[in-house]
Amino acid sequence: MSGTESYDLVVVGGGPIGLSTAWHAVRRGRRRVLVLDRHGFFNERAGSSGSERHWRLQYTQKDIFALTLQTRPLWRELEELTGRKLIHEVGSLWFGDVTVPTNEGHIADTAKAMDEMSVPYEWLSGKEIEKRWGFAHLPAHFEGFLQRDGGAIDVRGTLTALYHLSQEQGAVLRGGETVLEVAPDATGVTVRTDRAAYRADKVVLANNTQANDLMAPWGSGTLDIHLYEMALVSLRQRDRAERPFWFAFQPPTDEDTNLFYGFPPNPWSLSDEVRLGPDFEVNALEHADRATGRPDPRHVRRVTDWVRAHMPWVDPEPTATGTCLAVLPGDPARQFYLGTAEELVDGGDRVVVCASGWAFKLVPLFGRICAELALDGTTAHDIARHALTGLVPGTPR
Ligand SMILES: Cc1cc2nc3c(=O)[nH]c(=O)nc-3n(C[C@H](O)[C@H](O)[C@H](O)COP(=O)(O)OP(=O)(O)OC[C@H]3O[C@@H](n4cnc5c(N)ncnc54)[C@H](O)[C@@H]3O)c2cc1C
Repeated sequence: MSGTESYDLVVVGGGPIGLSTAWHAVRRGRRRVLVLDRHGFFNERAGSSGSERHWRLQYTQKDIFALTLQTRPLWRELEELTGRKLIHEVGSLWFGDVTVPTNEGHIADTAKAMDEMSVPYEWLSGKEIEKRWGFAHLPAHFEGFLQRDGGAIDVRGTLTALYHLSQEQGAVLRGGETVLEVAPDATGVTVRTDRAAYRADKVVLANNTQANDLMAPWGSGTLDIHLYEMALVSLRQRDRAERPFWFAFQPPTDEDTNLFYGFPPNPWSLSDEVRLGPDFEVNALEHADRATGRPDPRHVRRVTDWVRAHMPWVDPEPTATGTCLAVLPGDPARQFYLGTAEELVDGGDRVVVCASGWAFKLVPLFGRICAELALDGTTAHDIARHALTGLVPGTPR
């Protein structure tokens, strides 16, 4: 392959986890790092569209809880290096039926985990939640907690920070180039795109919604993940009271998971709009390319009905709607796929895969872990739960 560009590390996907991986690799002195993104950087067509994400320490599973605690100092470092606040600790309020198991967790078990991890929180009755923040007509058995260190992550700010840090330290960032094949062998990895072929010592697949496109040709199966085009609904707030991020845990209905969440107005913008979403795992897409960008009208209506019933401080007429591509594992206990492909393909120890789950909060840590797995072949962080096991049969596209 004379004339082929070669790199220490090629990262497939320039979302936050791909950029974070590149940043951790270059800051360790690996100068020859290439990031490729099919849609271009800061695109709104992947898992990181929209402006904010929920930051929380609490998890029901203690090994994942430990990962959020390990991520926090890395967020602080990123903020110091860029002089920009990325996590806004407006608080994380979880309330509802405390026994309902969901893909986000379980309120009562998470409170137990916080006790065991010595993370402080305030336990609140439904009536106290109504009185403090203005929710209305909550079912009598609703209760929950406020964890004050939680809040909202600035998505665009994070992407900008990681883009500039990795580029300033020498990573090559190329948008508008689609990776079509990742073929590891005994001496390296060949990465074919719609424009060129590259040779890499190691590769990280950080293309999230589309990791399976590149894994299927290896013939060992694909990740057991489901893609959902989830609605995002913006609404105008009628007052200026300060409120936390909130998540309402309710038992599923016949049609959907019946879970809703909401952000207060962004502390980093002048807008008075709040953003709400349904967390409905219904109508899975066959492939990310099938995403329309248009939310299911029924899902938008379910959000505005919830607002009418329980949020008198918000005008229930949406000012804007959109979607975001969520990638969730078939097994909710797993949350993420993160590990090397050594069991899946010859030379697979040269390829790291990171995909699925509510992973924005873990971006600085998952980037570091991907760089460690790629460059050192190991990490000190406990990611055993997320290993690339339990694959399902997959056919090459
Ligand atoms: C509605 C919604 C709410 C969420 N809420 C939260 C939350 O509150 N807290 C939280 O922590 N997480 C949350 N998440 C999850 C979080 O947003 C994602 O885990 C995270 O943004 C994924 O980042 P990523 O870099 O892995 O992937 P992505 O942002 O999906 O980036 C992958 C990139 O790969 C590129 N790509 C794909 N295929 C190829 C290819 N073949 N060649 C080259 N490039 C390719 C794409 O163009 C894309 O830019 C939410 C997600 C959604 C959809």
